[in-house]
Amino acid sequence: MTKIQIEHPNPLDSMKERFSNAANILGLDQMTYDMLINPQKVMIVSLPVILDSGKLEVFEGIRVVHSASMGPSKGGIRYSMNVTLDEVKALAAWMTWKCAVVGIPYGGAKGGIKCDPRNMSAGELERLTRAYTVSMQDIFGPDRDIPAPDMGTNAQTMAWIMDEYSKIKGVASPAVVTGKPLVLGGSLGRVEATGRGVMVSTRGAMAKLKMDPTKSTCAVQGFGNVGSISAKLIAMQGLKIVAISDVTGGYYKKDGINIEEAIAYVEKNNGTLEGFNADKLSNSDLLTLDVDVLVPAAMEDQITDDNAHAIKAKLIVEGANGPIASNADTILHKNKVNVVPDILANAGGVTVSYFEWVQNRLGYYWTEERVNRRADRVMKQAFDNVFQAAQKYDVSMRTAAYIVAIDKVASTERLRGVF
Ligand code: NAD
Repeated sequence: MTKIQIEHPNPLDSMKERFSNAANILGLDQMTYDMLINPQKVMIVSLPVILDSGKLEVFEGIRVVHSASMGPSKGGIRYSMNVTLDEVKALAAWMTWKCAVVGIPYGGAKGGIKCDPRNMSAGELERLTRAYTVSMQDIFGPDRDIPAPDMGTNAQTMAWIMDEYSKIKGVASPAVVTGKPLVLGGSLGRVEATGRGVMVSTRGAMAKLKMDPTKSTCAVQGFGNVGSISAKLIAMQGLKIVAISDVTGGYYKKDGINIEEAIAYVEKNNGTLEGFNADKLSNSDLLTLDVDVLVPAAMEDQITDDNAHAIKAKLIVEGANGPIASNADTILHKNKVNVVPDILANAGGVTVSYFEWVQNRLGYYWTEERVNRRADRVMKQAFDNVFQAAQKYDVSMRTAAYIVAIDKVASTERLRGVF
């Protein structure tokens, strides 16, 4: 079978290399390999939008459906100037593997619009989002493809999509998106779900590694939805969070950062940590701090073969998607740095998205306690399955997670057949 080796990785190369490694260990047949390494559908649209200035700008919108063999495809929408087709393809495939790892009945998809949401007004973002929804009306659907928030998008973005889609179809369709505001059918616990899953994975891995939370330190890169909540919940397990960061840089306190205080600071400070009272350090220095646990929760390709050898943490829990490039895997493995991979560690978000979709379709809403209890159970079970697979195949947790996921998706492909 094709063996993929990458010199200068991008997220798609990293995804393909890891997929290829796991597929080889599983002995996946060439036909299924070819089907699973490529996305099923790629849609690229031009979105003309009148800006507040009266000028027209045409934005590029992408939606990639990697697989819909386990169920409707599921995945967030990213608004960022760095969006590329390759990035969206990688993120879509990761959604397929993630849903399979936690055992929820979805395939994988991802969307992106190349734009700078921080420099756009609410009106401009609303028009852009509605234009995207109109263009994607034949892709989206509660039984076809279900978007959610990702970087640069939020519950308000989902409300606009839900509204536009419902108007087009002439029926109320809350289940077409997840991550909605609570009053529009959002789920209790969804906002915290990804960070909560990161915490459950961190706790699980620390127990296996016999690390004492009350004697451990942690650094978290990124302080958005995933980073801030992961930091808060990990601190509640007794770890000392000595460093946090966002797009404005890193913030370090030897004696530990009060995370609730940092979250309140960001809320009052235009959404960033700029000016937070702590020693400043760069985002790259944060990654190589002498800590026990490192949680990269910002973006892709933060740890590569350039800095992997300098990582001192014993455990990395990937809050972000793809924060470690595949060319760093061997170095980290050789240096005995344990990694809980993204497709397991940050799967709490899509798990509670699934619960949101189930609640929308039932028209019956659960308590936060029920959501958290069920999500924790799913995450713990998925962690145990991946850990067992790692032992069975004598591979890293990452390769084990891919093995678990590919095995499941491949079996659905085989059962459904090809014409
Ligand atoms: P977000 O937009 O809420 O936060 C992103 C954070 O990263 C912000 O604090 C931002 O300042 C920071 N950041 C941006 N560029 C940076 C840089 N160059 N260096 C350091 N920090 C930088 O996004 P989010 O929802 O928290 O997503 C973060 C990551 O987690 C992404 O990889 C996303 O795909 C992944 N993820 C998110 C969810 C979810 O439910 N939100 C679920 C699974 C995975």
